[in-house]
Amino acid sequence: MAKILVIDDSRLISHVAKTILTKRGHEVILAQDGLAGMQAAKSECPDLILLDLIMPVMDGYQVCQNLKDEDSTKEIPVIMLTSKAEPADKVKGLELGALDYVVKPFDEGELIARVNIQLRLKQLYKALQEKNRQLRELANRDGLTGLYNHRYFHEQLSKDFLRARRYHESLSCILLDIDYFKKFNDTYGHQTGDIVLSTLGQVIRDSIRDSDFAARYGGEEFALVLYHADRPTAVNVAERLRQMVEHCEVRDKDHVLHVTISLGVATFPHEQISNPKQIVECADKALYKAKENGRNRVEYFR
Ligand SMILES: [Mg+2]
Repeated sequence: MAKILVIDDSRLISHVAKTILTKRGHEVILAQDGLAGMQAAKSECPDLILLDLIMPVMDGYQVCQNLKDEDSTKEIPVIMLTSKAEPADKVKGLELGALDYVVKPFDEGELIARVNIQLRLKQLYKALQEKNRQLRELANRDGLTGLYNHRYFHEQLSKDFLRARRYHESLSCILLDIDYFKKFNDTYGHQTGDIVLSTLGQVIRDSIRDSDFAARYGGEEFALVLYHADRPTAVNVAERLRQMVEHCEVRDKDHVLHVTISLGVATFPHEQISNPKQIVECADKALYKAKENGRNRVEYFR
């Protein structure tokens, strides 16, 4: 069942169309002229529009043009209703963006068949768009942790960094690394290593704000971007995360494991940071220092 808008100045034609379509379970909205039709298209968001060509004031061509010019209505499929059989009229309508036409007086079977084709195509198109959206999302994610991947991290960081620089806002980057990660893999096997990584991914996801984003940066390395976060704020976030991980029990089948992380923080604005690459490099230097100073700690780039 679909919602179908019929725009036609003939009451007889509108009535016949409504009877045929209602019988098939569709909801039918009628508009008697182009202006009312445009308004109904915007307010009712129909699945399909049947559009008469010859109407006073605003004809079907004009309505079709207006529908296609308007963001909220341009995706709605349009079938023209025409009593004219001249090919040139049909071509003009199709060129304006109508998908099909039905010649009046219409045959019930033909009208239904053409309506069904357009409704089916619309469904397929919607499903395709959704699939594409899912694929785009998947392509940006790391399969194990569900966090964003390295490529997407750089893409997003570049955008955020440029925005921060332009509007003189602060931006922080945290790089973190699991301490002695190799020993989990070596002692308990790679499956346990994967559990450590995915658990950490979950802890990170649970701890960040909606405006922040987190990525798996490399093997056991993760990266966070905190928008509107100055150094004290970012160091707080890092310290809180460090504690959460320290107190989190990671369980595989047979063991309870304790994991710690080291974190490096870099914040823009900073005299040594003028592009997205540099903020990552500075966070990496701070991370290196955290490792050097004994791990399970936070350091920031001074
Ligand atoms: Mg007419």
